[in-house]
Amino acid sequence: MTADSLAPAPEALAATDRARLVHPFLPAAQDKRVVMVEGEGCRLRDAEGRTYLDATAGMWLCQVGHGRAEIAEAAAAQMRRLEYATTFWDFTHDRAVALADRLVRLSRNGQGAAERVHFTSGGSEGVEIALRMARNFHHRRGQTERTWILTRTGSYHGAGYASGEVSDFPCYTTGFGPHPGRVHRLTAPYPYAMGLDPEQITDLLVDELEAAVASIGAHRIAAMIGEPVQALGGMIAPPDDYWPRIAEVLRRHGILLVMDEVVTAFGRVGHWFAADRMGVRPDLTVLSKGLTSGYFPLGAVLMTGRVADVVTGDGGFPVGHTYSGHPTGCAVAMANLDIIEREDLLAAADRTGARLAAELATLRGLPSVGETRQYGLMAAVEIVRDSPTRDPLPEGTYALADEIRDRTGVLVRGGPRALTLAPPLVMSDAEVTEAVAGIAEVLSGFHRRAAA
Ligand code: PLP
Repeated sequence: MTADSLAPAPEALAATDRARLVHPFLPAAQDKRVVMVEGEGCRLRDAEGRTYLDATAGMWLCQVGHGRAEIAEAAAAQMRRLEYATTFWDFTHDRAVALADRLVRLSRNGQGAAERVHFTSGGSEGVEIALRMARNFHHRRGQTERTWILTRTGSYHGAGYASGEVSDFPCYTTGFGPHPGRVHRLTAPYPYAMGLDPEQITDLLVDELEAAVASIGAHRIAAMIGEPVQALGGMIAPPDDYWPRIAEVLRRHGILLVMDEVVTAFGRVGHWFAADRMGVRPDLTVLSKGLTSGYFPLGAVLMTGRVADVVTGDGGFPVGHTYSGHPTGCAVAMANLDIIEREDLLAAADRTGARLAAELATLRGLPSVGETRQYGLMAAVEIVRDSPTRDPLPEGTYALADEIRDRTGVLVRGGPRALTLAPPLVMSDAEVTEAVAGIAEVLSGFHRRAAA
């Protein structure tokens, strides 16, 4: 008898789940559970035998698709040889060294200026570390007043105290008492919601940044953090000149640029790093998700030699985590990167992204579709109460995403304004068509209901 055949029946699992598990964003009163048991490629199967088409790549992380035996074998082989070793103090191991070297090479093959890597267990932890590094960089150079962090509307950077504070989702900051503070929020480019031309947007936002720097004082600002393309905000790409021009202002004022590439790296936008596509060289880059395609929780912070030289000075960088540079995580990441390279998934992301964009565009005639947009293999359907006013649904699109899942088996993600898609980079054309058909089916019904 296998371990699987001993697994409790779906209803029993759901009942124990209700009694024991605290889920993010699930009210205790809600009974429904979707108990996933296996996955392959872009398909997932639940305990009742229902299959789903995963247009979310898990949480936007499974670049290579589900169920890759090669990655499981890499993990097993590493666990048999050396399951865990620390990278604190002078301890190290071959896997962390190889992965750090590979990440730096990938960055330098693009435009990146990264030279050193600090490993984390995930995205939030990486953001915490990057913000600490930015402040520590200035502190060690005697600029102890440089403590403010610039961030942007609509951003999501994680669930820690600092990463939650620089995010723009009130659920991460409301209900916990006083905020850490020293955060200034700039406007993020959101062409559809702003209703402006791209050129007007960049000029406006560069002026806003200059004004903020003048009012806070450059000598008090440590860093600006941003997602190259806002993911949770609604898969929103900026105008092409936005990041280069923002980076130029920051450089001029000695403010570090922290790019949160937790979602956008490792092929998601057709490059190893979105910064390469956008022509910017961040001082610090936060990575996670696609680094292992979710087969192991691992993240990394890349930094330039200039930052590394300062923060690794006297006493070394003063912060670390038990799982930093976990050997099994690093072995999994190497196997995952091998697949991305061998199967040319960077090119696949652009090709499939273009196809997805074309198919999503067919939804534009529906009255509740404000626009559809795509950048690499990140895409969104902006849902509006009515398109001329561009007003979002007050309740967001979360229930719509659930309805698409329950009625058609297509997994998309809800959000404050848009339905979002970021499928595995291995999604086929037929699966793209199936995903869009699922969205269309529910959105058509949604209009009829709304009109009734
Ligand atoms: N940064 C971005 C852009 C993200 O989308 C996320 C998570 O979705 C995070 C940071 C936080 O990562 P984690 O959930 O691994 O802590």
